[in-house]
Amino acid sequence: TSFAHFGFDEQLMHQIRKSEYTQPTPIQCQGVPISLSGRDMIGIAKTGSGKTAAFIWPMLVHIMDQKELEPGEGPIAVIVCPTRELCQQIHSECKRFGKVYGLRSVAVYGGGSMWEQAKALQEGAEIVVCTPGRLIDHVKKKATSLQRVTYLVFDEADRMFDMGFEYQVRSIASHVRPDRQTLLFSATFRKKIEKLARDILVDPIRVVQ
Ligand code: AMP
Repeated sequence: TSFAHFGFDEQLMHQIRKSEYTQPTPIQCQGVPISLSGRDMIGIAKTGSGKTAAFIWPMLVHIMDQKELEPGEGPIAVIVCPTRELCQQIHSECKRFGKVYGLRSVAVYGGGSMWEQAKALQEGAEIVVCTPGRLIDHVKKKATSLQRVTYLVFDEADRMFDMGFEYQVRSIASHVRPDRQTLLFSATFRKKIEKLARDILVDPIRVVQ
């Protein structure tokens, strides 16, 4: 597979070329077409596999379609991950590729200023990258709403479970509309993650790095 097989438009292709990636990684070859098709997906992949781009590129296509169908406020895509560092990394990739369409990303994580994050959320963004507890805090305070979310990603799910975020992960999934697309990434596929996948994904396709 080459990047041309994904059918991305010239704007996104241009940005990918600028990144100097020569070819898609295995998780991108398998994951991108599945995500573009709208199916739920379980990706068993580690950091370094290129998994972030595998969910960001189809996310951008999804957002551009959805924005037309459902104008309004609040994020269309939410990416939930375990740590502040990962949040910042994913957020910076979202900005790098999202800017070709003028899409905005906000990162909200524990340890950052609640007030500044709330302000950024209220200014508006199609993409929110977050740690689980902090997103819930902002939703409770009505700094943002999940009603327009139709693309939901859980990254490093096993690590979120290890850190004790299972309840928050499930809570977020239960507050996002059922007609969403959900992607779940995890380095391992243990019993607890398998159970989570059964509970929050619909007929998922599983890809292994
Ligand atoms: P990730 O596994 O998403 O954390 O990505 C690991 C690193 O690989 C990041 O620095 C990406 O910028 C880079 N990367 C993503 N996709 C590709 C690709 N197709 N070719 C080369 N590097 C890539």
